[in-house]
Amino acid sequence: MQTQPMWIGGRWLPARSGRSFATINPATGERVGEVALAGADDVDAAVAAALAALPAWSRTSQAERSRVLARFAASIREHAEAIAQLESIEHGTPISDARHIVAWAADLVEYTASVSRSLMGSHVPTQPGVVSYLQRVPVGVCALITPWNVPFIMMAVKLAPALATGNTCVMKPPSVNSLTGLKFAKLVAALELPPGTVNIVTGPGGSVGTALASHPDVDLVGFTGSTETGRSIMAAASPTIKKLVMELGGKNPFIILPDADLDRAAKLLAFRQFNNAGQHCSSPGRYYVHASVHDAFVERLVAAARGVAVGDPSDPKTAMGPLVSAEHRAHVERCIASGLADGARLACGGQRPSAPALQAGFFLEPTVLVDVRHEMAVARDEIFGPVACVLRYESDDEVLRQANDSDYGLCAGVFTRDVAKGLRMAGELRAGSVFVNTHMLTPEMPWGGGIKQSGLGKEGSIVGLEEFTELKLICVEIT
Ligand code: NAD
Repeated sequence: MQTQPMWIGGRWLPARSGRSFATINPATGERVGEVALAGADDVDAAVAAALAALPAWSRTSQAERSRVLARFAASIREHAEAIAQLESIEHGTPISDARHIVAWAADLVEYTASVSRSLMGSHVPTQPGVVSYLQRVPVGVCALITPWNVPFIMMAVKLAPALATGNTCVMKPPSVNSLTGLKFAKLVAALELPPGTVNIVTGPGGSVGTALASHPDVDLVGFTGSTETGRSIMAAASPTIKKLVMELGGKNPFIILPDADLDRAAKLLAFRQFNNAGQHCSSPGRYYVHASVHDAFVERLVAAARGVAVGDPSDPKTAMGPLVSAEHRAHVERCIASGLADGARLACGGQRPSAPALQAGFFLEPTVLVDVRHEMAVARDEIFGPVACVLRYESDDEVLRQANDSDYGLCAGVFTRDVAKGLRMAGELRAGSVFVNTHMLTPEMPWGGGIKQSGLGKEGSIVGLEEFTELKLICVEIT
């Protein structure tokens, strides 16, 4: 199998060490590709290329940068089927979801291309004879480190705002989904930007990611991933005081009030729980269900979980594929075992599917755990898998206290027919996004924690663009 090179300084290059590593199809356990394994010297070359490209790229007009992004979005649409097939093979995303995800990535880049033309600075009132204004300027060289859970879209959502605002970039896709990262690199290469404007290096987070996060010439680290890795990136970035934009983990509480539309809540939340095998940061991590409707809700949630078609990601009828790796499935299985040892009960799932065709892949059944109590590890720690944890509550005060008693603050939700009450509870929930009777995300909506240990700053929307700029004061005496 030929080793896929990296995109550095406008050229396709192997790792200077000559080393490489394999990526795996999680549905079959088979090797699907071999990619360059970057070292610190490759990271140095990529950062040097981005630094050299910065003066020219940061001086291009906003209109020109937006046109580049519009071409990028068109190119994603043109190659949509190939990208979706690759994401399905390398990540295990069911093909129908993968097509949707690629269309979403194109939409996101298109949105960024257009909204960035409206990004403005402001006038600062001072005194007669003096004009002062705040100008938005690029931060500089951005290291963009992305997770495996939706690999293509995560790269698009970081690169588009960074480029639109005049920064140059070094990207590191997740090692398990490096082929998808290098497909992204091919589309970037076809834009024929000045060499070094965007560089893409492949390799493990512990070495390549750390080399980027600690590099003295990197000005900003844009990171999405676990809270634990976020902490080590903060530590690595602190000696050179980098700007950080971090989207981290969550253990998202969703509250089902006694008057909720149970059919709708169970259907919507089951979709958000089992889509992408639960590997979404926004998945409901904890269901707090009022005691009076607990059994009725669980019955509906279990029915929805049993209805999820688990299978071959290439089959358009499949709704849930495998988990991303053997290691990650083992982690999810340990979480289930810990919940059971602490007294939770399986309402469904909890096993590997028995179908012979699925034995070589990293599959797990959609799982519902009931009798979960707030103090259990399974109710407090992020699982990042197809496991719904259901807790029973009695009073509003109790449920708000428990929902907020978490290290995380990514998102939360309330289901009720009393929208005024839903809004009051939304005001009390400490989370970056709170949903009432829904659970959704569009490119116009800013996403992210920025609250407790779920991150720093927002992603998406015009707010996410601002994260990639600094405000610079210019003051002129005109008398
Ligand atoms: P991860 O933290 O293990 O890895 C994310 C990226 O960081 C990968 O590219 C990895 O190679 C790299 N990395 C690992 N160690 C590093 C280090 N020491 N220094 C620098 N880089 C390093 O996360 P993951 O397992 O890929 O993704 C799952 C996590 O991501 C979950 O916690 C999930 O909640 C979170 N996530 C959050 C959001 C959000 O918007 N808040 C979105 C998606 C995923």
